[in-house]
Amino acid sequence: MLKGKVAVVTGGTRGIGYAIVKKFLENGACVALLGSRKETVDQALQKIKEEQKNPKVMGMWPEISDPKEVKEAFQKVKEEWGSLDILVNNAGISARDSLYDYEPEAFQKIMNLNVNAVFVCSQAGAKIMKEQGGGVILNTSSMVSLYGQPSGSGYPTSKFAVNGLTKSLARELGKDNIRVNAVAPGVTRTDMVAVLPEELIKPIINAIPLGRVGEPEDVANAFLFLASDMASYITGEILSVDGAAMT
Ligand code: NAD
Repeated sequence: MLKGKVAVVTGGTRGIGYAIVKKFLENGACVALLGSRKETVDQALQKIKEEQKNPKVMGMWPEISDPKEVKEAFQKVKEEWGSLDILVNNAGISARDSLYDYEPEAFQKIMNLNVNAVFVCSQAGAKIMKEQGGGVILNTSSMVSLYGQPSGSGYPTSKFAVNGLTKSLARELGKDNIRVNAVAPGVTRTDMVAVLPEELIKPIINAIPLGRVGEPEDVANAFLFLASDMASYITGEILSVDGAAMT
């Protein structure tokens, strides 16, 4: 479904991002996997090379909220493979602080990664895509971008912003043949969820009509569809992949 396409996936070292990287590679794309540290990027590359035969994959660890580092990283991808067709803004952190003792620095940290980095990477990616005649930008939102959550307000706030960027950039970049969509996962089996307390997670799972949490591959399948030409007339969408969960 992605033969000949070149993709960048931020937060590609584990969890949902890693599943997206694998899915894109299986479907013929060349993929640059971005992570926060060389060690975790190397580990992910090693794992992929054990699981797949001759994957067209490279790893990088730029500071993704820094325009200069991102520009250089994306240029390297273009030099290596000739284009940048798909950008997945997936890296993200969550929060569960109560408002009463929420450190302003913690709020800024989550906004910096979950929102500023999405803006910075989208800007750098869109410039390349416009020049080459089009592309696809996909963002990882969350089910909490629709409902909020009862603690850690920085997290849903950041994902509401991701939806805002998705809808606005879809309108702005349509004329340049760049589609912009988001996937809003529900509770998905990754490290991010493993660290959450039982009392926060249990009621959420009980309210999932499909009766289970999502697997990273469930989410990656939605990204594959939206990245592919099968979604050629879809832009500005926030696609829920949450088993119809409601909080
Ligand atoms: P995860 O913790 O397993 O992976 C997070 C990824 O982000 C890692 O690859 C990590 O390297 C990267 N990352 C973290 N801090 C970074 C930084 N400062 N700079 C660059 N990269 C950094 O989490 P996940 O569950 O796979 O989450 C991926 C995305 O999915 C996030 O945007 C998250 O908000 C979203 N999401 C997750 C769930 C869930 O239930 N797991 C639900 C909804 C949305």
